[in-house]
Amino acid sequence: MPISLTDAKRTAANELTTIFQAGQRVCLTTHVNPDGDGLGSEVGLLHLLRARGIDAVVTNPTPTPPRMRFIFDGLPDADKTADAVRELRRADVIVVLDISDIGRLGALGPVVQERGVPVACIDHHVSEGSLPDGPRYLDPTAAATGELVFEIAVACGWDVTQPIAQALYVAIMTDTGGFRFSNTHPRTLRIGADLLERGLQPDQIYSQVYASVPEGRPRLIGEALQTLVVEPDVGLAWITIPPGAMKRHGLTADDLDGVVEFPRSIEGVNMALMFREISRGRVKVSLRSVGDVDVADFARKFGGGGHTKAAGLSVEGSLAQVQTQVLDAARSYLAGGSNGDGTGQG
Ligand code: 5GP
Ligand code: MN
Repeated sequence: MPISLTDAKRTAANELTTIFQAGQRVCLTTHVNPDGDGLGSEVGLLHLLRARGIDAVVTNPTPTPPRMRFIFDGLPDADKTADAVRELRRADVIVVLDISDIGRLGALGPVVQERGVPVACIDHHVSEGSLPDGPRYLDPTAAATGELVFEIAVACGWDVTQPIAQALYVAIMTDTGGFRFSNTHPRTLRIGADLLERGLQPDQIYSQVYASVPEGRPRLIGEALQTLVVEPDVGLAWITIPPGAMKRHGLTADDLDGVVEFPRSIEGVNMALMFREISRGRVKVSLRSVGDVDVADFARKFGGGGHTKAAGLSVEGSLAQVQTQVLDAARSYLAGGSNGDGTGQG
C-alpha cells in the first residue's frame, strides 16, 4: 500500500526539489558524530540526486563511523568529509539533514553560514531552526529524517532503488532503536515495509549496524556499568564513561550508541543520563526519558536539544562539576513534574 502524503508535504517536497538542477554541485551535511539517520538520509538523497544528473557529495563535520561505511558501497567518491570545507566552498546548494540548528554543524557551521547559497533543510527535530535561508521539509512527528527523504522521493515520483532503500532503512532502524521506541508509528512500519519490499535483508543490515562492534565496546560497557548510580525515589539513574577509557579501548563516540539504554531500562527510572568528558573541561550528557518527562526541554536549559525522549547537551566544567550541576537540575525537574508529547530518538 503506497503511503499517503498531505498536500502541504507535496508542496514542500516540490519546493525543495525545484532548487536542484542537473550539473549543480550539492553538498549534503549533518550533525557532528553522524549517526545512522544522518548518514542514511544523506546516502539516500545522494543516490536520488545523482540519478538526476546532480553532482552530490557528503560533507560532514566529523568522519563516518566504520560500521556505517557499508551504506557508501558503490559510491567510491561520495564521502568527501575529509575535504568538507573545500567542497562546501564550491557548492551551488547545501542540504542539511537531521538537524535544524547551525551549532550542531561543529566547525562547518561558520562555513555554511557565510556561503550565501540556498541551504535546504530536511529534519524531524523540534527546533526553531537557525540555518541560513532555503527550502524546508520538516516534520517532528517523523521517526527519522530517513522517512522524510522517502516521502520526498514518493512526492516527486523518484525511483527508490535497493541501495536507497538500504540507506533509508538504516536511518529508520537506528533512530527507532530497531523499531522499539515510541516514535515507531504505524506509518514508520509502513515505510519500513515498503523499503524491505525492495529486496533488503533485515538480518544482514542489523548485523552490519549492531553486531560488528569492536571488542572494546562490551569491555567499555562493563566499566561504564560499574559507575551506575540509581536514585529510585526521584526516578533518576546515570552512568559515567571513565575518563580515558574510550582511548584505552580504541573507541569513538559512535561506539557509545545505545549505552544510555542500560540506566534507562531500570524499573522506576524516568530520566537516564550518561556523562562523558569530550575534551578537557567539556562534558557531554546524553539524556533519555521514560513516560512524560521531556528531556529536550530539560536539555535546552543548558543550550542542548533533541527529542522529547532522547536529547543531549554539552557544558563546560569538570566531570564532577557538570554532574553536580546537571543532576541537581534533573532532581528539581523531575520533582517539578514535566510534560511531554513523546517522540523518540536520533
Ligand atoms: P545522543 O544522546 O544519542 O548523542 O543524542 C540524542 C538526541 O539528542 C539526538 O537527537 C541529538 O540530535 C540530540 N543531541 C545530542 N547532543 C546534543 C547537543 O549537544 N545539542 C543539541 N541541540 N542536541 C543534541
Ligand atoms: Mn534523526
